[in-house]
Amino acid sequence: LIQLYQPLNFLGVVYREVKQGLIDMEQMFALLRTPQEITDRADAKTIAPQGAAVSVEFRDVRFGYSPDREILHGVSFRAAPGQKIALVGPTGSGKSTTSRLLFRFYDVTEGAVLVDGIDVRDLAQQALRAAIGVVPQDTVLFNDSIRYNIAYGRPGATQAEVEQAAKFAQIHDFVMSLPQGYETRVGERGLKLSGGEKQRVAIARTMLKNPRILVLDEATSALDTATEQEIGASLRQVARDRTTLVIAHRLSTVIDADEILVLRDGDIAERGTHAALLAMDGVYAAMWAAQSEMAEAEDTEAALATG
Ligand code: ADP
Repeated sequence: LIQLYQPLNFLGVVYREVKQGLIDMEQMFALLRTPQEITDRADAKTIAPQGAAVSVEFRDVRFGYSPDREILHGVSFRAAPGQKIALVGPTGSGKSTTSRLLFRFYDVTEGAVLVDGIDVRDLAQQALRAAIGVVPQDTVLFNDSIRYNIAYGRPGATQAEVEQAAKFAQIHDFVMSLPQGYETRVGERGLKLSGGEKQRVAIARTMLKNPRILVLDEATSALDTATEQEIGASLRQVARDRTTLVIAHRLSTVIDADEILVLRDGDIAERGTHAALLAMDGVYAAMWAAQSEMAEAEDTEAALATG
């Protein structure tokens, strides 16, 4: 019975992670294949996984996980190729749901999600997901070498390519400082990496994958401010020349977004650039004021702690 139970239990864990977060979708899907509700059309189109940035559009999207409870009530936005759209708003406002619809983990009830002008329902899922890279909140590491964990972004990558990606993500020097370097085993049964180091592995993976669309699911609070600022710089680099959807928890990282969508209960309550939203003096401006106060308090605390 134990033998039967363990794999089932494992799949249960995987399933929960896929449903609850953006964890690492590709890994999960490699393990699970795809939930069976979503199938490809016989004449499904493909898009190249790499190449120039592509547009992403939500056209009056309505969606609910069950028919009796609508979660998104008509969400529309368009990211032109290479633009960055930020989703902000309280927990439960629909940010993750929006990003899951981009991956087509579910089909919309009404409206459409378009990538490069093509309805995602007309695209082969494999092609769609190959074109999207994710830097999740919490990266899942395999019980394998660091090299393997980075190369996962592009199976068959050479050592030189892995190192280049690691340098880009600013984790190369750290790896080289380990006695076994890139062959160091990490994960549950190996070296435990910090939240920041794991995120750097995710950034390196994404650099190797070189996707046309990027989804960034910002860490809530796992990282200290200094680490977060350093990683922020790497993230901005990886987002360059890619159409980016960022689920933002800290407003400081959305200042440069082409458009910020403030979600509330599945509606876009406010939208615009950082400057325009501040000028509006509404929900976003209030969130900004609250976060600035918190940051100031943190700074004061840090200053007191260091004397
Ligand atoms: P956010 O990312 O902004 O915190 P979510 O998109 O996760 O918000 O959630 C929006 C709403 O959808 C919430 O009310 C949440 O309870 C619900 N929800 C999220 N995931 C699921 C799911 N897998 N099944 C049913 N309801 C869900």
